[in-house]
Amino acid sequence: MPSKRASYTFYMLSLGCAKNTVDSDSMAQLLGRSGFTGTDDPAAAGVLIVNTCGFIEVARRESVAELRSLAAAKRPGQMLIAAGCLAQRYGAQLAEWVPGLDGIIGARRWMDIVDVVQQLGGRREPLYYLPDAATVGADERGVLRASRQGASAYLKIADGCRRPCAFCAIPIIKGTAVSRPLETIAAEAARLQDMGVKELVLIAQDSTDYGHDLGMKDGLAALLEAIVKAAPRVPWVRVMYAYPGCITDRFIDVMAAHPQILPYIDMPLQHASRPVLLRMRRPANLDWVYRTLDKLRARMPDLALRTTFIVGYPGETEAEFGELVDFIRDVQFDRVGAFTYSFEEGTPSADLPGHLPEEVKQERLDALMEAQQAVSLARNQALVGRTFDVLIEGRGEVEDEPGTFVSVGRSYRDAPEIDGLVFVEGEHPVGTLVPVQIGGAMVYDLIGEPMQEEN
Ligand code: SF4
Repeated sequence: MPSKRASYTFYMLSLGCAKNTVDSDSMAQLLGRSGFTGTDDPAAAGVLIVNTCGFIEVARRESVAELRSLAAAKRPGQMLIAAGCLAQRYGAQLAEWVPGLDGIIGARRWMDIVDVVQQLGGRREPLYYLPDAATVGADERGVLRASRQGASAYLKIADGCRRPCAFCAIPIIKGTAVSRPLETIAAEAARLQDMGVKELVLIAQDSTDYGHDLGMKDGLAALLEAIVKAAPRVPWVRVMYAYPGCITDRFIDVMAAHPQILPYIDMPLQHASRPVLLRMRRPANLDWVYRTLDKLRARMPDLALRTTFIVGYPGETEAEFGELVDFIRDVQFDRVGAFTYSFEEGTPSADLPGHLPEEVKQERLDALMEAQQAVSLARNQALVGRTFDVLIEGRGEVEDEPGTFVSVGRSYRDAPEIDGLVFVEGEHPVGTLVPVQIGGAMVYDLIGEPMQEEN
């Protein structure tokens, strides 16, 4: 039986996306307020929490595997709780997949984690905490809805989604979009500024839908203006997850007007063939995409453009896939994330005819990334000689020069965890912004020399 002290210790494993990371940090804040202390060692914890991901098959498998390995190592008196999207989506069924699971709390009610832990104390049968009426975004208990990652912080501006994408389970898991109050987010930006954060990464399922449910028009533009006003000393503000068709002129004006707001657009397009986009129930107006990218690049010539594609969608023909490859060669994206279509029960796409074999999907993924690597290298090579601020995040040893270290960081063109890196000669303090002249380019990463030690 863990000691009294251990039973007030928790271990949190956060899986999936940055939105889940913020929920994990929020649960940790609430546990901390109730006298629990966090530990990185599951063996030393009385409470084991896995904040799961249930978005696609590969993520589900990872979540179940992590839960099973903790359940197998669990000692008497320890409690194992599954939180997050897999818990929300499958509920009690999860207990069949993971013998030894003590509690299940849905992604929509992360704020009740302390209640669940307290109810579990001394309980024999599992506790399934999945209130039907739960909606995301309700009573946040005053926690900071952000997650610090060194000098950066993910700041959640909304949760849930009202879009009809035929392949996506998020609306099933999280429900419709709920925006957080603008004043609350602006105040959090100011708090993060005072904590020394250099980069705010705004996240939601669909950031461009911010404020719609609050009756706001162009809510994201208004929010950005409130953030740069509340946190004028945060050098970088980055917006993730823009929905095609929702990048307005006002939004572009606000981006172009404020140097703090990075000339970086992450706009998942998912495909470029009109018939496929229509089958995906995604915006299919490619003319709008071209016009908007032209507008963005005209106002911000140094714009870094990121997108995401799904290959192997049910019924995707060779010709439709070919359209996608032509499209990326034509548009010249700086960053492309691509995935093979994942069969999602309960989504409209599951019932579509023409599901493709996994090997065909994989072949197309490889072909698409090969085409994008050529684009990415060419765009990186065009940056040689330019100077960018680089946010230093760590250091790395030079492979063939043991004992020689370089600093590793990101420029405005690189979102955390998903884009490229910049390797900077010398060692520079983590968390500082260093002006760097680019001297070399690789497919995804850049190499450079410091213009001056520190900004
Ligand atoms: S916009 Fe994104 S989160 Fe929303 S349904 Fe579409 S793919 Fe899912």
